[in-house]
Amino acid sequence: MGNWFSKLTAQRQSDNRQSDRISVVDTLPFQIENSSDLISADRLHVVRQFRKYVENQLKILQLSLNANSVVLFWSGPLAEQLTVYAFSSEYEGLVNGTFPDGSGVLGLLKSRNQIDLVPYTPHSPNIPYHGVRSSVGSFLARSLSCGEADQRKAGNYGILCVDRSATDEWTISEQTLIVLTADQVLNNLLLSRDLLFTDVERQTLQLAFDGLRTLNSALGMDSVYKAARKALGLIIDTDLFAISLIHDHHHELCYITGDTSRSVLNHKYVLDDSLVGQVVKYRRTLPETNSHAGRAPIINGLRLFDGYKSILVVPLLQEDSPVTGVLIIAAKIEDLVTRNCRSMIEMIAAQVAIKIDLAQSHEQIQQMAITDPLTGIANRRAFQRGFTAMYERARRREGQFSLIICDIDLFKRVNDTYGHPFGDHVIQQVANQFNEVVRVGDLAARIGGEEFAILLEDTGLSGALDVAERLRGKVENLSLFSQGEVVLVTISLGVAAYPQDMDSQEKLFNFADQALYHAKESGRNRSVCWRDIK
Ligand code: GH3
Ligand code: MG
Ligand code: MG
Repeated sequence: MGNWFSKLTAQRQSDNRQSDRISVVDTLPFQIENSSDLISADRLHVVRQFRKYVENQLKILQLSLNANSVVLFWSGPLAEQLTVYAFSSEYEGLVNGTFPDGSGVLGLLKSRNQIDLVPYTPHSPNIPYHGVRSSVGSFLARSLSCGEADQRKAGNYGILCVDRSATDEWTISEQTLIVLTADQVLNNLLLSRDLLFTDVERQTLQLAFDGLRTLNSALGMDSVYKAARKALGLIIDTDLFAISLIHDHHHELCYITGDTSRSVLNHKYVLDDSLVGQVVKYRRTLPETNSHAGRAPIINGLRLFDGYKSILVVPLLQEDSPVTGVLIIAAKIEDLVTRNCRSMIEMIAAQVAIKIDLAQSHEQIQQMAITDPLTGIANRRAFQRGFTAMYERARRREGQFSLIICDIDLFKRVNDTYGHPFGDHVIQQVANQFNEVVRVGDLAARIGGEEFAILLEDTGLSGALDVAERLRGKVENLSLFSQGEVVLVTISLGVAAYPQDMDSQEKLFNFADQALYHAKESGRNRSVCWRDIK
């Protein structure tokens, strides 16, 4: 945390030095009301006081120079725009709005710090804040800027304009007054901007903490994905957010939100020279700048990100270990990601990487607990859980389901004749047949040594008997060989249905088991329904 804080502070200093565009802060002189939740009401009050102070300074200047209007333009929020920030004027038709940077007399200040038009004539360039030509005798404008004319950036400079009826030249002392006022005003604006920056910085840290806290409580993969989305949502407004995880030289989109089809999920994409590929290779967030127009595709062969003006791909990595995936953030607006939030996103990504790692091993352990290691299908424990769930669901909805219990015939003999390893192979082959007959919602499990059970969702007795017979046929027709010798394997199956046969869970199992016993008794390699033996 200490590291992060010092990073943010260092960044703030460098931001101030370079006077980079920092969207929230720099646009604030014009968007105080709606600009951001990041700024406290107290701070806004102070900033408004600053503005009042600037207005007073303009008023004093106007009175001292006997001017008609003193108008302060400030740049932003967009580049090449100047907005009237404050003014003091006797002129009633003053246009208090936003103008292109180069319009009328403002254009003359593109390459100079100060201009004067004396006398101001009908042929002089137009004064933007005068809607119609009015009686201006002399005009002077001066840049308020932290840098040279060619370094001006939105949010970083303004223009102070003075006009009056008299056609006199501006005297040295008048000009000095204007220069001093311009300096004062600039200092005020920068000071209020810095105050806001401190607030934004504090709130930003708070957001980062909130984001991390959101992540902390997430446990399973899905909840980590959602928490990551939520954590980032606290920092920026993305239109599209995706997580792609790396598996054996490929990456696979496993989570996506936004206006896009979910069909892109769970496909493998090559780690090539696409932006995702580069992020994984170089282990750092790309693109370096906010713009990625016309460069490498984000994911090769996927047009998902067309039309997004801001893109950021952030690696999921923990210190020295390999990159495990990426976060992809996209927005339709330009310059979504300021440098501040870029670092925050990276911090969140580092935490997401840890959480995904933990969630993966958690899920692996969970999976191991419910999977039979020999066959890969559900184990007895999972069967019991699924059985109860299916029973409860059917009871609640007054639905139906069926249970098949099956056992390999004379399996002891298989083991004795061909050896235990071959016996294992047979068990695996039989289990594979189950996968082929079960549908989504059904559950096939190995519940004992060579004993299996299948739960068939929303299936009655005749449907279950069909499945049982299909399965019996499949096993009977298996091509199993041991040392060149064909080995015939068969299974016996017992079938019972809820609620046709019984409306209690325990009894249903017992009845299916009795049906299986009956199948064995009556010659094996057959399916028997409990209701046929009672
Ligand atoms: P029946 O037709 O009556 O079921 O005859 P059976 O020989 O199959 O009888 P039983 O069900 O009593 O025998 C099951 C045998 O399965 C006994 C046991 O050695 C074997 N077995 C249980 N688990 C495994 C296993 O994981 N691998 C192997 N190879 N054999 C197993
Ligand atoms: Mg058996
Ligand atoms: Mg058995």
